[in-house]
Amino acid sequence: MEEDRSAKFSPSKLGCYKECPRRYQYRYVDRIARARKTGATVLGTSAHSAFEFLYERLRAGGRPTLEEVLAEGRAAFTRDWDETVSHLGGASREDWERLLDDCVRRYYAAHAPFENDRTLAVEARVGFPIEVDGHTYRIEGFVDRLAAVGDGDFEIHDYKTAKSLPAQAHLDEDWQLALYEIAVRTQWPAVRSVTLVWHYVRHGQTLRSTRAPEDLARLKAQVAALIGEIKRDHAFEPRPGALCDWCEYRDLCPVFAHAEKLAALPPEERGRDAGALLVGELAVVEDKRHRLKDELKALDRAKEGIDARVAAWAEAAGVTTVAGETAEASVTFKDELRLPTKTGEPERHTALEKDARASAVWDAVARLDAHALVDGVKAGRWTGAAMAAAQDLLERYARRERAATVRLRRRRGETED
Ligand code: SF4
Repeated sequence: MEEDRSAKFSPSKLGCYKECPRRYQYRYVDRIARARKTGATVLGTSAHSAFEFLYERLRAGGRPTLEEVLAEGRAAFTRDWDETVSHLGGASREDWERLLDDCVRRYYAAHAPFENDRTLAVEARVGFPIEVDGHTYRIEGFVDRLAAVGDGDFEIHDYKTAKSLPAQAHLDEDWQLALYEIAVRTQWPAVRSVTLVWHYVRHGQTLRSTRAPEDLARLKAQVAALIGEIKRDHAFEPRPGALCDWCEYRDLCPVFAHAEKLAALPPEERGRDAGALLVGELAVVEDKRHRLKDELKALDRAKEGIDARVAAWAEAAGVTTVAGETAEASVTFKDELRLPTKTGEPERHTALEKDARASAVWDAVARLDAHALVDGVKAGRWTGAAMAAAQDLLERYARRERAATVRLRRRRGETED
């Protein structure tokens, strides 16, 4: 059983759990360090170094020139760029260096002579305590730059080198800077206002957002609930999604480990892998099932048509059995009562169920939906006495059995013959 023993949580750590609990487990519970360096990460760290240098100098009373800030960024880039950088997306080292220069130039031109605010701290660690289920944890992180624009009016600045520019609505819901605001307000209770400022330096865009006290209270409650969930989690189930393509733990992750192992084998060995052979077998059987299912459906439709024609012929001929050379078809006519179905006539079906429920016959015609009972408890569909009753039924009658569900998923671009 895995267990999270963290006492501190950063916004990125919480974000990691929200995106995929298994990735969180590898990184923060098992502590498997695998920071993946890419052109984008080197751009991010070197741009941050350039801006840190700029504002530290300004804070000390200096005013570095654009060339000096560029030189600082380039030096950081050279220090950080090594053979471990993975080349994703095809851009070269020179492309990334040029992009860094563009970002710094654009930022410098937009903000020089840097007199709109007063820098209070650069790369400052901020945090606050948070109570969860009787335990005290800490939320901590680093603010890129904390500035004052007036007496008690603070700004939290964050530099982003991302390729895409987020929508304002996305920033208004952003956790990272809002958590830093809670930290700033905890550390400096006299602060009058806090503005959250993002500099999307690839786009030369500055975006802002503010939070009302109730937004911050709601966020704190959400974060406490998430920490509680992390602390109770012992399975850290993988949550496959768009992030998987960039995940550094694919070779460990149960969803991708076999595919990774297979891809690393020479082509002639891949076909001999026991797992790959089984999936091949399954794919053949599944294809056949699909074909037969389609065939069966077509035969059922054909039979329905012929049945109707035989019945009409028998009725017209005044017989109940139609003779053939090798077989005969008997035809029975009877009037049947048909009730509205859930899919055919949903409204009448609901009304029928309501009336039947209120009638004396309900106990005789109602049946237990065992699936709904198990599912409802799993999904926490009820509260209070209803949930207690459902849980009691499961405790008394359910038996735990290990069941495997195997679903065949075609890889992109690979279809049935
Ligand atoms: S590969 Fe995907 S599912 Fe697996 S750990 Fe990484 S993010 Fe999670």
